[in-house]
Amino acid sequence: MPYDTIIIGAGLSGFAAGIRLAHFEKSVCILERHYTIGGLNSFYRLRNRNHDVGLHAVTNYAAPGSKTGPLSKLLRQLRLSWDDFALCPQIESSVRFPDRLLRFNNDLEFFRHQVHSQFPSQKDGFERLLSMIEEHNELHLTGETASAREILQSVLTDPVLIDMLFCPLMFYGSPTRNDMDFSQFVIMFKAIFEQGFGRPFKGIRPLMKTLVNRFRKLGGELKLRSGVQKILTRGKRTVGVMLDSGEVLEANNVLSSAGSLETLQLCDQEVPATDPAMAPGEISFIETIYSLDRLPAELEHEQTVVFFNDADRFHYQPPDDACDVRSGIICSPNNFVYPEDHVEEGRIRITALANPGFWSDLPEPDYLPQKEDWGNQILSAALKHMPDFRPHILDTDIFTPRTITRFTGHINGAVYGSPHKVRDGHTHLDNLFLCGTDQGFVGIVGALLSGITIANLHLLKP
Ligand SMILES: Cc1cc2nc3c(=O)[nH]c(=O)nc-3n(C[C@H](O)[C@H](O)[C@H](O)COP(=O)(O)OP(=O)(O)OC[C@H]3O[C@@H](n4cnc5c(N)ncnc54)[C@H](O)[C@@H]3O)c2cc1C
Repeated sequence: MPYDTIIIGAGLSGFAAGIRLAHFEKSVCILERHYTIGGLNSFYRLRNRNHDVGLHAVTNYAAPGSKTGPLSKLLRQLRLSWDDFALCPQIESSVRFPDRLLRFNNDLEFFRHQVHSQFPSQKDGFERLLSMIEEHNELHLTGETASAREILQSVLTDPVLIDMLFCPLMFYGSPTRNDMDFSQFVIMFKAIFEQGFGRPFKGIRPLMKTLVNRFRKLGGELKLRSGVQKILTRGKRTVGVMLDSGEVLEANNVLSSAGSLETLQLCDQEVPATDPAMAPGEISFIETIYSLDRLPAELEHEQTVVFFNDADRFHYQPPDDACDVRSGIICSPNNFVYPEDHVEEGRIRITALANPGFWSDLPEPDYLPQKEDWGNQILSAALKHMPDFRPHILDTDIFTPRTITRFTGHINGAVYGSPHKVRDGHTHLDNLFLCGTDQGFVGIVGALLSGITIANLHLLKP
């Protein structure tokens, strides 16, 4: 018997779609090439320490019991409880530019006052921008795009404020260089400045395990170490997949979270190179995770996330060099409001833009030394914005675009996927659909909503 749906990828979007389908008694199988679940949001153990791959902070924070907002919607759709996320709110984050500082927490009013006091001449323009954001339907699935930069420039005259607004939103959710689609800008603005950050107090593991348990309990099948080598087609339809092992699995529908181009390359059919979905992503990062012998707060670093930029303008694009150390992110997973008895090792994560080609082309013997060299350069840049924690480092782990490609298959290690999004999830085949990063809703909450949206739209029709 063919499966009703095969899902490629055991990341957040794949599980969200799988849970929806299994809940409605569809026979569904998730196939994952890697030996573990999670994709871009996985977890690992190294030298006796647990690490999260892709968790700085969960955006779209909402207090337990809230009835509105993306988080409560996805909990309802997946029949999860607030305790499954166990989200603790952030302490406070900031955007730091030369001689400028904007602080924010999970209360838009606080941020609004920050903008008014730091940029008094921009007060009216910023209020107009807030109205435009409120009125915009950012979740449309029509695929219409508009330049956020042009829209911001129509209401704000200070380029520094524009850059300071873009900086966190781009770092946490833009696949496009130096500009964003306005809908994506609105999604990220609401996710970060309106709703804000939270973190599951035990990291991503418990949430991922809840998703996998829920999926299996509903009858879903999960096959790890089961990479899809080929999507099998007959005319305008897919009929199933061939695994790396050569095994063939039949299905009435295939839903892929691997990425647009990555999925098209799996099809045993030529796809015109002019198809915009053929544009690969290009934005990727290098990140160092430091384990410390004390909490960052004991070193007087109490910020949750610091987005910094030391240049005159904020440049968000693949750097010409290996990395761009002019800007970056400093995240401390310890700086959330945790229950009093919560004990956790001190951690600092420092992230900067990286050039995917540089890292993928490096000969193996040069890879480690280059990682260490650039890790040190990024650390020096970050130390201009936080206390010097170097005497307290117990362990260091660095990953690059090359690591991301190796573990998730995303071309160029592109964390936010292709610049061209396929909002309605359609592909050139009638029953092959996309969810996840290249459908367009990115991040942890975005990926979950993407799986839900595409499952509801195409795979749960009567
Ligand atoms: C370093 C880092 C930090 C991040 N920080 C945050 C954060 O703080 N907050 C936030 O909200 N988001 C963050 N993100 C982004 C977030 O993790 C992702 O947006 C989200 O996890 C994407 O989920 P997805 O399901 O779309 O894709 P993925 O997680 O990429 O899932 C796709 C899966 O498909 C599998 N696959 C691919 N090809 C095949 C194949 N041929 N056969 C079988 N399986 C295949 C891959 O192995 C992968 O498991 C971060 C990401 C990274 C990398």
